Amino acid sequence: MSTTVLFAARDTRWDIYEPLLRAALDERGLDYRLGTDFEPQEVDYIVYAPDSHLQDFTPYTKLKAVLNLWAGVEGITGNQTLRAPLARMVDDQGLTQGMVEWVTGHVLRHHLGMDSHILNPDHAWSPNAPPLAPERPVTILGLGALGIACGQALAQLGFDVTGWSRTAKSVEGLRCLNGPEGLSDALTGAQIVVLLLPDTPHTQNILDAAAMAKLETGAAVINPGRGPLIDDEALLAALDSGQISHATLDVFRIEPLPEDHPFWAHPGITVTPHIASETRPATAAQVVADNIARGENGAPFLHLVDRAAGY
Ligand code: NDP
Repeated sequence: MSTTVLFAARDTRWDIYEPLLRAALDERGLDYRLGTDFEPQEVDYIVYAPDSHLQDFTPYTKLKAVLNLWAGVEGITGNQTLRAPLARMVDDQGLTQGMVEWVTGHVLRHHLGMDSHILNPDHAWSPNAPPLAPERPVTILGLGALGIACGQALAQLGFDVTGWSRTAKSVEGLRCLNGPEGLSDALTGAQIVVLLLPDTPHTQNILDAAAMAKLETGAAVINPGRGPLIDDEALLAALDSGQISHATLDVFRIEPLPEDHPFWAHPGITVTPHIASETRPATAAQVVADNIARGENGAPFLHLVDRAAGY
């Protein structure tokens, strides 16, 4: 009997995803029905994004899994109507590759002091070479799919990288710390800090005034994780005092960032509009089809969300 796959992400993406998902499901030899409109009780899998109109999963009585197209799941983990397994997007070739490029680029911008040459209205000749990467301590908060890949890319460039996670980890090339007791050590003396944590009750405001005070004076903050990870008021105060020299922010508590938000006008803040990395349909379709094939073949799903932990 064929398996029924409902696509319930934003309607505008259906045209892009439909041929890619069909090709990926065909490649795996699956007998399936794929569409945007089925009777709920017929649906086996839902390809999902939290911006979907679908918020009540109760009628989906035989659901085997929800396959989220996004890495972040804070918009769905708390949904009590969802009882089926929830998988999130982990895609080395697409989402992860994009994040590595964005993080590396912004770390190098601060490391090399590029702004002082790009923005040099007085044509000052200031021949101050930057330090080498091994002299630049970089801390990555979050050692998941994205944090590890970014940390290792930076380590390969020679940076002195520390990573921090909830559970203990061992990652080649990185100094790994974990848990509340490891946080202070991870932050102390860091010159660049990159936030790649999920948004959960335990991570909100993790970069508050006390945390920023532990960084090296003049440190740079780079946040492609989620807006609530940073205490916004504390960040503005730390920028104004010079404790933080610059913040590059891709994610915000309210998106789009309101026109009158002080972040837009602050000279020490670079705003990018949640583009650090996005799900790439061609490779994401393969990830989704892989998980459907696993479900149909009785194999455990990949990239499952721990709903209790919130990520
Ligand atoms: P993962 O779930 O793979 O990794 C999350 C990491 O955070 C893990 O290392 C986890 O620890 C750690 N963590 C979670 N809670 C805590 C805590 N309380 N204390 C310490 N560490 C904690 O996620 P990804 O790497 O795939 O993605 C990270 C985030 O990046 C996403 O949740 C999303 O918010 C954001 N994102 C942003 C994008 C953008 O364009 N701006 C694009 C894609 C993602 P442990 O390893 O012990 O479980």
